[in-house]
Amino acid sequence: MSKLRKVVKHIVLAANKILYLRISSSLFRLFKVQNCYICPICNYYGRFKSLRAETGERKKAKCTKCGSLERHRLQYLVFKEITTDKNPNNMKMLHFAPEDFLRNIFKHMFKEYLTADLNMENVDYKEDLTKLSFSDNCFDFIYASHVLEHIKEDLSALSEIKRILKPNGIALIPVPIIGKNTIEYSEPNPHECYHVRCPGEDYYDKYKGFFTTVKLYKSSDFDEKYQLYI
Ligand SMILES: [Zn+2]
Repeated sequence: MSKLRKVVKHIVLAANKILYLRISSSLFRLFKVQNCYICPICNYYGRFKSLRAETGERKKAKCTKCGSLERHRLQYLVFKEITTDKNPNNMKMLHFAPEDFLRNIFKHMFKEYLTADLNMENVDYKEDLTKLSFSDNCFDFIYASHVLEHIKEDLSALSEIKRILKPNGIALIPVPIIGKNTIEYSEPNPHECYHVRCPGEDYYDKYKGFFTTVKLYKSSDFDEKYQLYI
């Protein structure tokens, strides 16, 4: 009996050990999936930094290598998707309010790459998006991320983007979507980076008055491994 108990004890210990290894392995996989992500911009793989913004803490927001945030990674994935069948080598691009990590990629990718902004110093052109100096139909691609929520006359800005875009051109012009309906502020909101409105899901309806095709993309359209959620 004593020998049998010893065998049983060993079997139980072995089973516990296997169970323990299985649990450890599962926890490791779970840990890895939950805490490590891929940055599609710089190909970094690992943990992302949390960010303390005015609107609250954003966990796993920032790529520790290039500094990209959730919106940058989503926009870059959208950019890759909508240019899959295009050849940027033959395209002229205008990048409004350029993000440095994207500027470095685009300037090597496009045949001609110009940057513009009203307030930034290190750009090719100082431009007011509502009164652009560029001629009609001269850009194949325009990128202006999180710009329109700073401009009261956003319809003028959209009209100008449409004017300088070639007939088959593409404009990538995302804004932060907060709620269901857009709320216009009477003056720039100091608690929201001086935005002049709080864009809602209905905001992109404005684009339909200017562009023949308007396509919306969401974080859920892409893999969670890129961490595209705020
Ligand atoms: Zn990165």
